[in-house]
Amino acid sequence: MEFKNSLEFAQQLDAADPLKDYRNEFHFPKVKGKDVIYFTGNSLGLQPKRTQEYIDEVMTAWKDLAVEGHFHAEKPWWDYHERLAAPLAKVVGAKTKEVTVMNTLSVNLHMLMVSFYRPTSHRFKIICEEKAFPSDQYMLKSQVQFHGLQPEDAIVEIKKREGEHYWRTSDILDKIKEVGDELALVLIGGVNYYNGQVFNMEAITKSAKEVGAFVGWDLAHAAGNVKLKLHDWGVDFAAWCSYKYMNSGPGNLSGVFVHEQYLNRVDIPRFEGWWGTKKETRFLMKPEFEPMENADAWQVSNPPILSLAPYLASLEMFDEVGMEPLIAKRDLIVAYLEFVLGEIDNETAGSFQIITPVERGCQLSVFLHGQGKDLFNYLMDHGVITDWREPNVIRLAPAPFYCSFTDMYHFGQILKSGIQLKGKVK
Ligand SMILES: *Cc1c(COP(=O)(O)O)cnc(C)c1O
Repeated sequence: MEFKNSLEFAQQLDAADPLKDYRNEFHFPKVKGKDVIYFTGNSLGLQPKRTQEYIDEVMTAWKDLAVEGHFHAEKPWWDYHERLAAPLAKVVGAKTKEVTVMNTLSVNLHMLMVSFYRPTSHRFKIICEEKAFPSDQYMLKSQVQFHGLQPEDAIVEIKKREGEHYWRTSDILDKIKEVGDELALVLIGGVNYYNGQVFNMEAITKSAKEVGAFVGWDLAHAAGNVKLKLHDWGVDFAAWCSYKYMNSGPGNLSGVFVHEQYLNRVDIPRFEGWWGTKKETRFLMKPEFEPMENADAWQVSNPPILSLAPYLASLEMFDEVGMEPLIAKRDLIVAYLEFVLGEIDNETAGSFQIITPVERGCQLSVFLHGQGKDLFNYLMDHGVITDWREPNVIRLAPAPFYCSFTDMYHFGQILKSGIQLKGKVK
């Protein structure tokens, strides 16, 4: 398709967008009375309008039924979380029984490492990407130290090449082979939070399995954004948060995937609690732990229903739309954004550099050479919410559920005037 940087063209794309009505399903913050142009759905997704209803339902049941709500609420609380597994499994390419919702992301990665990082004197190394999301770095280091190992011995970081802004799959595969039978675990962010790169999860998983290692993925920036086939790829475990592309509210619960081959087994070490034991006999309060036959075996506590409710509301929307149409729109809107950036770059004789490689999802990370934080502030004042990383990287994620092509056009115009006005002053 030949793009044009004009309002009329952007409006045509919107008119032809099969998801255009979903924009009205979300609450937009306002600046000077107008809906913002929201590029930070990769950080905190907008609130779906229907979420309130789901939360109100729980509040009302608690008010009217109190403890009886566990069994007699319209959506009873004791198995409320089970409603999330089927729609969530579709989002991540899993079987329903391989998915559960519990805790928060970093906590879950720790919990899953109890099962899947069991270092021996020979096989104890972990491969991850350099400059992983800080929480993942702290998590890996503290896990290694917990096992009495030194991070510098056990953690192998895959580096980008000098002068390059992305990781090469071949470098990762080579490193996996090199570490070979010392490799206990590969744990990488499936979509990098900084440059937006989508890792080749299938190839990396396959290669790690070949050397006998476990493979886990942190899917914080991948869930609800990119095509995932966790089951078919043979991934051992994965976890993701629900508040980024999945629009379920600040700090909300995390989804967990455990491959079918580890389900219904008593020989897998795990930190256990009463919500992981068979629900048929759970309330007999027996001393023996009988694991649930699905990923719920990893559940420890009874889950917070007030947090499950917004996740369920959001999943209902994912289920209505499906990942394919979301991904199709994502590809088109990101391509249009890239085009608009190129046009503005030309018009302002600027020097933007997109550091996101072609293996991308919803996010473009852009160096704005010669521009400072004042440009970011200008964008904010003009109703554009972006994510700024010092010294001059801007991360733009036009979430396909609620961003429009017209937004991309208007953003380009605001960016242009911001550069013309402010960029030169500095
Ligand atoms: C957002 C994000 C997290 C956040 O973890 P929480 O435990 O939910 O605070 C972790 N890892 C990655 C890669 C992220 O992008």
